[in-house]
Amino acid sequence: KEQNLGSAAAVHYWARTTRDTTAIVYESDRISYGTLSARVRFLAAALSDGGVRAGDRIAFLGRNGPVLLAAALAAAHLGAVFVPLNVRLAGSEVAYLLGDCRPHTLIAEDANRPLIDGIADTVPVQRFLLADGGPAASGAHPRWEPLPMGEVAEPADAAPPVAVRPTDPAVIMYTSGTTGRPKGAVLTHGNLWWNHLNTAAVIRTRLGDTTLVLAPMFHIAGLSGFTLGSLCYGGTLVIRRSFSPEQCLADLVEHRVANLIAVPTMFAAIAATPGFPHADLSALRAAIVGGAPVPPALVRDYLAHGIPLHQAWGMTETAPLASHLPTELVATHPDAAGFPLPHTEIRLVDPATGDVVTAPDVAAEVCVRGPNVFAGYWNNPEATRRVLDDAGWFRSGDIGRVDKNGLLYIVDRLKDVIISGGENIYPAELERHLAEYPGVREAAVVGVEHPRWGESPVAVLCQDGEGRATLAEVRAFTGQRLARYKLPTAVHHVDALPRNGSGKVDKAALRAQVLGEQRA
Ligand code: ATP
Repeated sequence: KEQNLGSAAAVHYWARTTRDTTAIVYESDRISYGTLSARVRFLAAALSDGGVRAGDRIAFLGRNGPVLLAAALAAAHLGAVFVPLNVRLAGSEVAYLLGDCRPHTLIAEDANRPLIDGIADTVPVQRFLLADGGPAASGAHPRWEPLPMGEVAEPADAAPPVAVRPTDPAVIMYTSGTTGRPKGAVLTHGNLWWNHLNTAAVIRTRLGDTTLVLAPMFHIAGLSGFTLGSLCYGGTLVIRRSFSPEQCLADLVEHRVANLIAVPTMFAAIAATPGFPHADLSALRAAIVGGAPVPPALVRDYLAHGIPLHQAWGMTETAPLASHLPTELVATHPDAAGFPLPHTEIRLVDPATGDVVTAPDVAAEVCVRGPNVFAGYWNNPEATRRVLDDAGWFRSGDIGRVDKNGLLYIVDRLKDVIISGGENIYPAELERHLAEYPGVREAAVVGVEHPRWGESPVAVLCQDGEGRATLAEVRAFTGQRLARYKLPTAVHHVDALPRNGSGKVDKAALRAQVLGEQRA
C-alpha cells in the first residue's frame, strides 16, 4: 500500500505544528521547521519541473549542511531516491558511481564543480545543479544551473509529498569500498523509519532533543538515525561544515546537546581538547560510539568524566544501527556492542559451515534480520545474493560472539581475520593491546604472507616522541597477555594511520603504504 511515509512528510508536519521551532543550527544560521519545510517544497517543485519523477535518482556531491538535507527531503517529497556521494572521492570514482546509479539530476557544491566538469561528458546525468552557484560560479560551464534555493515563501500551490510504499527506495548509500568496489546499498523508506523507531527507543529520545551531527551525511551514520530521525521527531540539529574537536565541545555545551553519534577517533579528539575536563556536558544523554572497534580505554576515559559512551554496532546495510549498549551496562561491560535493537534480530552463523551457533562466547559471523535491513545492492543481484538470504538474514561480514546474557561483542571483520598455522588471529584484539603500549597513539595490524604459517600479523604503530618500539619489545609486551601465535612478526612505524572519509583505518591503503602492495 502507498503511504505518506517519506521523511519530508514529518518535516511538513512539524512546520504546521511548531513552525518557529529550530530544525537546524548551521554555523551562525538558525533554520526553523517552517523555513525548512518551505525550502523543501520549493526545491521539490523545481526538481519536478526539471523532470524528476518518483523512482528517479538525485545525486548530491557536497558537505554536511542544510542544502544537503533539503535535497534529501525534496527527494523524499517526490518519491525520488537520494544518492549522497563522498566528497573525498576522485573524479574516476565519482564517475563510476554516477554510471551505476544514473541520476536524473546531480546537485554539487561549487567546490566540487571542477571534479564534475572533468567527468561530465562521460556520465549519464541529465541535469547539473550548482548548490552555491552565486557570483563564484559566474564562469561556470553552461551545463550548470543554479539550485533553486534561498529564503523563499512556501509556494501556494505546492504539491503534497508523493505517497510511497515502505519497500520503495529512499536512499542509495555507497559503501566506502574498504572491501572492494563500492556497492550501492538500497535503503527503503521502511528501512529508514524502522531505524528511526529502533534508535529513538533505545536512546530514549525526548521531544525537542538537540542532536549534534558529526559524521558526514554521505555516510549512513550522518544521514539516517540521528539526523533524519531527529527531524522526524521534531528535534533540533546542530551541524558544522567540518569537524573540529574544539568547536564540537563548544557546541555540546552551548546547545546543550542530548544526542551525538561518532566514531572512536572523534570521541578521542574531543577528550583531548584542553576544555574537556571542565565542560558542562550534563545535557548529553546518548553519546553513541561505533563504526569501528571501540577501545575500552576510551569508554573508561569518558566514564571518568561521568559520560557513559554507549557502544553501538551496525552498518550501511542495516540503516545503520543493529545493536546498542544501554547506559546501565556501560560501566560493567565497556567492550560490549550491546543487545539487538527492539525490532531487529541477531544470530551467529559459522561462516565455514553455515550452521547457526547458539553456544555462548563462540566467535562466528553476525547476521541481522529486521525491517531495517536493506533491500539489496543497486544493480548488483549477485552481491545481494551473497549477503541476503530468502529468510531475510543479512550476513554482516563481522565476527562476533554473544555471551550468556545475550550481549553481543564484535570481534573483528571476517575479511581482516588472519589465519596463521590454522589458528584465527583477530587483528582488533592485537590492536587493542598494542594501543596500550607506552607512547603508542594508535596501532593497526594487517596480515602478510608467511612462508611457514600461511599468514602472520604485522603491527603498524604511531608513537609519540622519539621512541620507536622494536619487534622484540612489542612481542614481549603483547606476549604478557596473548598467545604466542598471535604476536606480530614485524613492526612498522608511521606518523599517522590512513583513514577513509568516515574516520576508519583504511587497511588497503595501509598495506600499500607499509608493505608496498597495490590497492585492491
Ligand atoms: P565496506 O565498505 O567494506 O562495507 P565500511 O566501513 O564502509 O565497509 P560501513 O557500513 O560504513 O562499512 O561500516 C560498518 C562496519 O563498521 C561494520 O561492518 C563493522 O566492521 C564496523 N563497526 C561498526 N560498529 C562497530 C563496533 N561497535 N565495533 C567494531 N566495529 C564496528
